Amino acid sequence: MTDFLPSIPFLNLTKINRAYDPIFKERFSDFVQSGVYVKGKAVADFERDFAAFCGAQYCIGVGNGLDALTLILKGYIILGAINPGDEVLVAANTFIATILSIKQAGLTPILIEPDHVSFTMNPYHVENYISDKTRVLLPTHLYGQLAAMTAMNEIAKKHNLLVISDAAQAHGAKDEHGKMAGSLCDAASFSFYPTKNLGALGDGGAVTTSDKKLAEVVRSIGNYGVSSKYKNQYIGVNSRLDELQAVFLIEKLKNLERDNNKRRALAKKYLSLINNDKIHLPAWDGSENHVFHLFVVRVADRKEFCTYLENSGIGYLIHYPIPPHKQKALQELSSLVLPITEKIHDEVVSIPLHIGLEDQEVMHIINVLNQY
Ligand SMILES: *Cc1c(COP(=O)(O)O)cnc(C)c1O
Repeated sequence: MTDFLPSIPFLNLTKINRAYDPIFKERFSDFVQSGVYVKGKAVADFERDFAAFCGAQYCIGVGNGLDALTLILKGYIILGAINPGDEVLVAANTFIATILSIKQAGLTPILIEPDHVSFTMNPYHVENYISDKTRVLLPTHLYGQLAAMTAMNEIAKKHNLLVISDAAQAHGAKDEHGKMAGSLCDAASFSFYPTKNLGALGDGGAVTTSDKKLAEVVRSIGNYGVSSKYKNQYIGVNSRLDELQAVFLIEKLKNLERDNNKRRALAKKYLSLINNDKIHLPAWDGSENHVFHLFVVRVADRKEFCTYLENSGIGYLIHYPIPPHKQKALQELSSLVLPITEKIHDEVVSIPLHIGLEDQEVMHIINVLNQY
């Protein structure tokens, strides 16, 4: 899609991580010296710091964001709160990993139309999809914006469901009471993939929850199903947060609030200065409920717009070009009729928004978009 070389790249991870180079080198020396390279002090310290940051009782570091969700779902199956084959409601426009986790846990994904303004699971549609097999609502805080969690929790309470959120794009997003993603429902999953708002220098993920039983089961099944050394209680997997990634994440977490504020300030600039009838800007109430993992605009003629961006040297990506129900891997969902989802996938374009952008780059992007 984007094999052109933009003068303003979509993202510049080198620039962002270069700022940490001296501290990373120092910490790396300590890490080598520690002699403990898996499940050591850094993972324990990061889990403590990230749980506190999110306002959750527990954080369990795992291998990646997909595993985080899968382990939560499998954990609740082990605890008897969900039965194999039960239905999990998920927004049809989420990143495919959300749906893969449901399949990998042996559950049935039920795709529901998102709200076309917020791009997140539409609470007004949810109850139409609830059956006697429904056990879980699984909203994604897509693009960094919290899903309608108060509504989700109310619906869940009424129907006795669990709420699990995919928070892979929303580290640090806060609701109107200042409560953070990761503490707004039964359990939440995070990814520390390098491009995320809290990004490692490799793969990583975490589960946050205040449910002690779930925390214990997730910790166990992410580590072979061990209960105590060489005693295996469950059929587990090996999905642990890497010690070295935890070393890096401890340093980057210290700046997450600052970085999210910078993203919001950039978004504010775009929202106030991009003024073009052909470009629909994302809706945002200006609160801290959005951490702008992505700044996603909608255009009717995306192909033409993307060519224009390429000719103007501005990097872009599409999140995501093909809806999950149209993916070959999910052929059993291909007959679903989801017009809002399909329209979103036809129209969205993500423009550069990251903490390495210079002021003049931002102004250049705004000018280019206004001249389209
Ligand atoms: C990145 C992401 C994931 C998967 O995370 P990995 O660490 O790459 O496995 C899941 N859901 C969403 C919404 C994501 O953005």
